[in-house]
Amino acid sequence: MKKISHFLISKRTIFLAIIGVLMYIAISRYNISLWYILIFGVITGVVFGKVFCRWLCPMGFLMEIVMSLNPDGKFSQMYQYHKLGCPIAWISGYLNKFSIFKIKLNIDTCKNCGLCDKQCYISTLEPQKYSLYKETKINPGNSYSCSKCLKCVEVCPNGSLGYRVK
Ligand code: SF4
Ligand code: SF4
Repeated sequence: MKKISHFLISKRTIFLAIIGVLMYIAISRYNISLWYILIFGVITGVVFGKVFCRWLCPMGFLMEIVMSLNPDGKFSQMYQYHKLGCPIAWISGYLNKFSIFKIKLNIDTCKNCGLCDKQCYISTLEPQKYSLYKETKINPGNSYSCSKCLKCVEVCPNGSLGYRVK
């Protein structure tokens, strides 16, 4: 099971490309109302949190290409800016706190190595506030900005972080 989830996470951008292109074709060819996409985004938000941006969205895929051209520079900030105009990002970001699936820590197996925090763009930006393993800090997976890249889950050497219901 762990191998399957790590495989899916490591191939996330490929899934995003395929699903994003299919969604774009479906919307443009069959004139699917953007309201349906919004409802779909809200439903996925209730179940999974903000997965739409990094797993399903054609625009998200384009932004990831732009970011990859200049990973440490200005382009990486554009990823956040383009979401300002997207109601799916607003709503599902808010739903990160309440979604059925969440990023959860198994304290018993965690070795406090800190690798998860180093991978997370939220905890690296605000380490005084967020941490995936320090109990005194806020779990970045519940924050508005977490787009469920799941790098934290992938990087943990002990399988202590999971994206699960309980
Ligand atoms: S999925 Fe994990 S690494 Fe990615 S933003 Fe959310 S908490 Fe951070
Ligand atoms: S990477 Fe895993 S073991 Fe290391 S601190 Fe994070 S949860 Fe704990």
